[in-house]
Amino acid sequence: MSSLAYAESLIRTIPDYPEPGIAFRDITPLLADAGALRAVIDALIEPFAGEFDVVAGIEARGFLLAGAIAIAAGVGLVPIRKAGKLPRPAASVSYALEYAEATIEAHDDVAPGARMLLVDDVLATGGTLVAAHRLAAKLAITVVGTAVLMELPALGGRTQVGDVHAVFTA
Ligand code: IMP
Repeated sequence: MSSLAYAESLIRTIPDYPEPGIAFRDITPLLADAGALRAVIDALIEPFAGEFDVVAGIEARGFLLAGAIAIAAGVGLVPIRKAGKLPRPAASVSYALEYAEATIEAHDDVAPGARMLLVDDVLATGGTLVAAHRLAAKLAITVVGTAVLMELPALGGRTQVGDVHAVFTA
C-alpha cells in the first residue's frame, strides 16, 4: 500500500456527528501517524511547489495542516479565524451556513500581492472556502491555489469554489 493510500485508510468516519445524518470525516488518526502526516503534507504542496509565499489555514483543522505546510515549504502562515478571535482583524467576510451565518477574519500582516495557498481539511458545500477567497481579495492577496485533504463531492463544493486540489475524495 502506498503511503497516501495508508493515510487515507486512517481517516475515520463518525456517523451522526455533530448532528444526526452527518457522516463526519475525522482526520485525527491520520495526524497522529508521522508517515501519513508527511505524505499528505507533501501531497497538499506538490501542485503548487515554489508558487506560493504564504499559506493560509482555516480554523481550526486547517491550522494543523497549514502549520506543517509552512515549515515544509519554507513559507509564512496566515490564520483565518472565526469571528471575534483575532485582536485586530483587518478584513472580515460573512457567509451563510445551513441554518445560520458565519464570519471569518484575518489580519493584514502579509504584503498586498503576496501569493497565497489556501488550505482546509474538508471541502463540503464550499461556503467556507468561497468566503476565504473573498477575504483574501479584500486584503489584496493573490490566491494561487486552494488545497484540501478531503473533498466530499456529493455536497457540490467544487462548483462553488472552482479549481481545488483535493488529496482524497470521499
Ligand atoms: P463547507 O463550508 O460546507 O465546505 O464546510 C467546510 C468546513 O466545514 C471546513 O472548515 C471543515 O473543517 C468543516 N467540515 C465539514 N464537514 C466536515 C467533516 O466531515 N469533517 C471535518 N470537517 C468538516
